[in-house]
Amino acid sequence: MGLPQPGRVLVAEGELAARVAELGRAIARDYARANPVLVGVLHGAIPFFADLMRRLPIDLTVDFVRASSYGAGTTTSGAVRLVVDLTVDIADRDVLIVDDIVDTGLTLAALKRAFEARGPRSVRTCVLLDKGSRRLADVAIDYVGFSIPNVFVVGYGLDYDGLYRNLPHVAALDGV
Ligand code: 5GP
Repeated sequence: MGLPQPGRVLVAEGELAARVAELGRAIARDYARANPVLVGVLHGAIPFFADLMRRLPIDLTVDFVRASSYGAGTTTSGAVRLVVDLTVDIADRDVLIVDDIVDTGLTLAALKRAFEARGPRSVRTCVLLDKGSRRLADVAIDYVGFSIPNVFVVGYGLDYDGLYRNLPHVAALDGV
């Protein structure tokens, strides 16, 4: 058995670009005068974040977090540790969390709660890929790129053991 490899392409480069442009139009309309804080969740959201922000012809601030759960099982308690935290004060700001994929929703729910404790005007969420069938946390996803089946995917920021983030498309991982 070799290393699991990227297989079938689930979302091609052109489809990603077209959908990111659509999301950009919707977000730009909704946040036209808000000067939102766009928060990218490292590392997976990097390509999506970079493409999305360039489709937002509005005033905005960018910042990043890196979340880590408190060990096995603890995400169910909703706690995340911010290994990299925000550098901007989000009090009275409109925050849009931008993430690569939502599966159980526990990470995003915990992030949202952590930000809400800092007195923002609003906190909403935008994810490229939604594996809705596995949702455990009751977290609203305000902007979704694509709904995908429950398969492990890599590419366009998503990794397998640190690999394949640099693929320009989203592919299913074979051999897992
Ligand atoms: P959740 O808390 O929603 O279950 O976890 C979401 C996180 O799990 C994502 O940010 C991502 O790091 C990881 N994840 C979930 N599904 C996949 C997948 O299909 N591929 C990869 N590479 N990561 C995934």
